[in-house]
Amino acid sequence: MASLPFVMIYLIPAIIATGLAIVMWQRRYYRGGRPFTLLLAAIAWWNLCHALSIADTTFEGTLFWSLLQNVGIVLIGPCWLLIALAYSGEWWRVDRRIRRGIFIPELIALIFALTNNLHYLWWSTVVADTSRPFLWLSVTRGPAFWFHSMYAYLCLATGIIILIRASAQAPPVHRYHSRLMLAAALIPAVGNIAFLSGLKVPWNDDPTPILLLISAALAMYTTMRYQLFDLAPLAEQEVIAGLPDGLIVLDSRGLVAEINQHAPRLLGIQQGRWIGRSLTSLIVNSPFERDLQRLLNTPVSGPSRPVICENSTQAIEVRLRPLQSAAGITTGSLLLIRDVSERIRAEQERARHIAALRLINSIARSANTAQETSTLLKTIAHIIVQEGHWERVAIGLIDNAQHIHVVIDATATGCGRLHDQIISAAAASALIERIQHGRPELINLGELTVEDPLAIALQQEGLQSLLLAPLRHDQHAAGILGLASSETKSMTPTLTELVIAIGELITDALIRIRLYEEVQRADRLKTGFLATVSHELRTPLTTIIGYTDMLRRGVLGDLSPEIQETLHYMRQASLNLMRLISDILEFSRMEAGQLTIDIEPVPVPVIVQNVVGQMQPQIREHQLHLMVNIPPDLPMIQANAGRLEQVLINLLSNAIKFNRPQGLIEIKAETRGEWVRISVRDTGIGIAPADQERIFEEFERVKQKNGQTISGVGLGLAISRRLIQHMGGKIGVESTPGEGSTFFCDLPVVPVSRTIGAQADV
Ligand code: ADP
Repeated sequence: MASLPFVMIYLIPAIIATGLAIVMWQRRYYRGGRPFTLLLAAIAWWNLCHALSIADTTFEGTLFWSLLQNVGIVLIGPCWLLIALAYSGEWWRVDRRIRRGIFIPELIALIFALTNNLHYLWWSTVVADTSRPFLWLSVTRGPAFWFHSMYAYLCLATGIIILIRASAQAPPVHRYHSRLMLAAALIPAVGNIAFLSGLKVPWNDDPTPILLLISAALAMYTTMRYQLFDLAPLAEQEVIAGLPDGLIVLDSRGLVAEINQHAPRLLGIQQGRWIGRSLTSLIVNSPFERDLQRLLNTPVSGPSRPVICENSTQAIEVRLRPLQSAAGITTGSLLLIRDVSERIRAEQERARHIAALRLINSIARSANTAQETSTLLKTIAHIIVQEGHWERVAIGLIDNAQHIHVVIDATATGCGRLHDQIISAAAASALIERIQHGRPELINLGELTVEDPLAIALQQEGLQSLLLAPLRHDQHAAGILGLASSETKSMTPTLTELVIAIGELITDALIRIRLYEEVQRADRLKTGFLATVSHELRTPLTTIIGYTDMLRRGVLGDLSPEIQETLHYMRQASLNLMRLISDILEFSRMEAGQLTIDIEPVPVPVIVQNVVGQMQPQIREHQLHLMVNIPPDLPMIQANAGRLEQVLINLLSNAIKFNRPQGLIEIKAETRGEWVRISVRDTGIGIAPADQERIFEEFERVKQKNGQTISGVGLGLAISRRLIQHMGGKIGVESTPGEGSTFFCDLPVVPVSRTIGAQADV
């Protein structure tokens, strides 16, 4: 058992390596976790087999274990290379197939090692060496072994170069552990080279498996102590690769340390090698270069505000945030790139919709208020030029002969040349033909093949697109709306809807104005007619009343009581007719705007007294009771004495007419703030709520339930309302059917300064 200490030299590392492999296996989902586990398992296997080859005392047994240890040996080189890739952050740059392919040459070598007895290409000679306390094999290495060695060293050397580069590029905070990793890689390489070149350890054996364990333990310590692999768990790849956003990690010098697949695409930069290169040089050909350079050159202390970079097809949002270590030292920065083309497109679409709504709103407002066709079309055309971004807007109306009369031709600077012209018959029929189907049509003026003088004229003014929309009324085109722009426009659904809506608004407004104008004309005719007729009726009626009075006074001899009574009724009827004619005449004057009323301070009690005086005979005749209720301190009002009397006489005569027999009439006046309310209350038939507003319209009367006719034409209240309105007041009624009505007029109180002045004048 002299070999036991030597067995232990390898068995203990085998156990340690197994333990470490188990620990690492638990972390296999971290980046590099699997090759690391495999490396530790390979080391454990190598040490175990080596220990067993020492422990075995037979030549065949030692040979068996010595060959079997190659299972571990061949894995060392490729595993190291993969660990170096994982550590340096290059892991995801290497395709999975390549990662597996790295092992293939070594697996081929392993086949040669395990089948050496068949070909002796691994070890060409093997003899027993008994110079040591244990059985040892003295071998001559064959070509397969050297192939494996070269390949293993190639892997190690590549791994070491990667680690050296990573160590050189590592920011200061990572520098220390990157050097530890490098040392870990170099230890077994140096040891193995020393062994192969003949340098011996005290126990005269290969120290590589032990050195490898030391190296692996050091690497493990480094990664776990500094949580290197923890920083990049397996999920990281998924997360970063699965991010719809682009992500670039820059080190403190602005070199790319990490970049995901979307970043180059979003930035519009060439595919290629980015790691370790300066981002500023990579974005030289990016369409967003200027914005990106500006962002990268701005020193950032906290997360930067997102910068939107746009070109004609794409929009990206870029944010730069500094990366800080736990100690608050800025170790680099993170560039997040997001494709916001859709969002920007949606925002632009929304802005377009809002602009369209605003345009429609402005047009609708002027369409509703305009009272004249040319003013309406002019306003609308200018609104479209200013808010709708069309350089030229023309609106023409089509007459029965299918001619187009251009009512307005507006440009941003004034009026176009089409204004007040009639487009030639040929051009008009061509235009009408185009809009006959009722839908707006967009014409690209540049593409017109037909020699159209209008199109040529517009083109000469630098206009590119012409949008024609019909103004349809009663299934046929009543007019045409033409919008021209110097841009080449396209017919989007929004534009189509907008133009249709504008066309409808214009058409509706045109119809409204036409109706309004017709009503105005009819009104003017009616007023003129009424004025003429009433004037012509008044003259003979005055003569009739004059002669009747003459007869009654007995100028032509004494009259019998019967004739006197007849004359009395004749006079009464003539006076009623006269009053009616006067009302009609007055009303027509008002309608024609010929009414002028002088406003002056008016004392209400005096007016009421006059009115009562005039109406007293009728009150008495109808056996009604009259109450007058006017406070002595009532202020003067702003009114016209004669016109106020006229209104009160009208109200009082209605209160008499519509009262019940022996009913009551109350005339009241009271102050209500800045107003004086004069009211006339009766205890008559009353007015139904539905009729209370209507009776103030001209020629409106309420039908009496009992079919009884009460004289009048329905003009008194209409005239009264206009007169009161002219005096700056209001007139109204409160009534309960069957109980009576109260008509009231509110007129403004004379301001204090004017009252004093008036009193001083007196
Ligand atoms: P007119 O008295 O000549 O018919 P008005 O304009 O003065 O015309 O009155 C319009 C209608 O209002 C009257 O026909 C009547 O139906 C109703 N009206 C006016 N005053 C009263 C009232 N005091 N009581 C009931 N109905 C009234």
